[in-house]
Amino acid sequence: MSESLVVNEIYLSLQGESTFAGLPCIFIRLTGCDLRCSFCDTAYAFTEGKKKTLDEILAEVKRQAAPFLNSKSKVQNSKLPLVELTGGEPLLQKNSQPLMQSLCDAGFTVLIETSGAHDISKIDPRVHRIMDLKCPASGEVERNLFSNIAHLKSTDEIKFVIGTQEDYDWAKQQIAAHKLDAICPLLCSWVHPLAPEQQSKVLKKVPAGLTPISRKDLAEKIIADALPVRFQIQQHKIIWPPEQRGV
Ligand code: SF4
Repeated sequence: MSESLVVNEIYLSLQGESTFAGLPCIFIRLTGCDLRCSFCDTAYAFTEGKKKTLDEILAEVKRQAAPFLNSKSKVQNSKLPLVELTGGEPLLQKNSQPLMQSLCDAGFTVLIETSGAHDISKIDPRVHRIMDLKCPASGEVERNLFSNIAHLKSTDEIKFVIGTQEDYDWAKQQIAAHKLDAICPLLCSWVHPLAPEQQSKVLKKVPAGLTPISRKDLAEKIIADALPVRFQIQQHKIIWPPEQRGV
């Protein structure tokens, strides 16, 4: 294989989000993103990275997965560890598609985290697509590609990252307007404040006039409104310092 990708980091940790939270997972963080969300905690992946061939990436994943090889146990019907493509925006690199196919062919349960700003329809159907719908405080709400909703399956997940009252109201409207709860699991994350070293100048500003929401208020609103979503906390930011890389 001669295809290559620009990779920021490949590491084994615990999946911190989604319905797979808590499970061992190898993360392949690809370099580059065309969005600049106000809350982005991986701005270092916009430009930092090294070119690696598909063979090199697969070999590294298999090396990190090797200690699990003797385990026959499956959690959530998935062989462990999971493998997730993340970023940055993995779909910006066309060779992310053959990489996902190869990982599926090798028997891994594969997840992709994508911004929702790019066509997801060409992704290998075996992959679990965790797709953001960007809320107003991200500064990128106009980048949502709503045509993606028609391609989502029950094995995919939609994520709202919520930092303001307006984000919550917007997410609630989208769930009702597109009947999203009938499609796949819905995730609501609270925007974790960025550590000083994560506050990149290239990120969008939260639009003026929006009202911040606390984590507790978000949880209580979900309960009061009987919103059919999974409230999630980014586990890795509780276990390790929020600014730590490679976890
Ligand atoms: S989509 Fe937004 S949060 Fe995700 S990597 Fe790009 S800028 Fe960061």
